[in-house]
Amino acid sequence: MSAKLLVVEDEEKLARFVELELAHEGYQVTKAFNGRDALTEALKNDYDLILLDIMLPGLNGLEVLRRLQKEKETPVILLTARDAVMDKVSGLDAGAVDYITKPFAIEELLARIRAALKRTSVIQNGIRQGNAPASPASEEGLLTWGPLTLSVLRHEVRYGGHEISLTNREFMMLRTLLENQDIVLSRDTLLERVCGYEYVGETNVIDVYIRYLRSKIDDIFSVRMIHTVRGVGYVIRAWKEK
Ligand code: CA
Repeated sequence: MSAKLLVVEDEEKLARFVELELAHEGYQVTKAFNGRDALTEALKNDYDLILLDIMLPGLNGLEVLRRLQKEKETPVILLTARDAVMDKVSGLDAGAVDYITKPFAIEELLARIRAALKRTSVIQNGIRQGNAPASPASEEGLLTWGPLTLSVLRHEVRYGGHEISLTNREFMMLRTLLENQDIVLSRDTLLERVCGYEYVGETNVIDVYIRYLRSKIDDIFSVRMIHTVRGVGYVIRAWKEK
């Protein structure tokens, strides 16, 4: 069964482009071009996931999300304008599972969709399946490893009380590893998730980011978070109390 997605975007060219890409990936896609149509459609039919632009004519995306959440728990990924920090925070408060900043690389969008759908199926089925994330982000988009917490929506990482400052790619790397605790990820997989396709083959880039992450977390807090699996890739093992 292919997942049913609702794409809500008033820029029709962008909506059409996203629809084609998603259909190519095997998703069933419905489009809506304004907030009211989106809300009506989302309430009438059951979708596995909604991609919801915030800046919409009539009813904006955040309002659609708030009204929808009173009735249903359909997961929503928000599409936000670059640097619209307030939108992201409001989206978090309103219950979006993730957001993506426009303009986005289609591979990043697809990765976010896959991750959101996996989290939902894990929650619904109550079991881990296939390569579903071992530690799906919570409702608030929080991933944890012992004293470390990563907030997807706030783009924030803390260890104990300390905030750790990461670049976007370090953050994506840490997020990907945390979502897949106990699952060894190859350099190619990490490269695709973290850097996108323009870096295909340059897997040494991944080693560099791992080194940066270790210097900011493992070295500072004297922990062994990221493990190297020789000839394969990297893994964060599930946290165990000593
Ligand atoms: Ca828009």
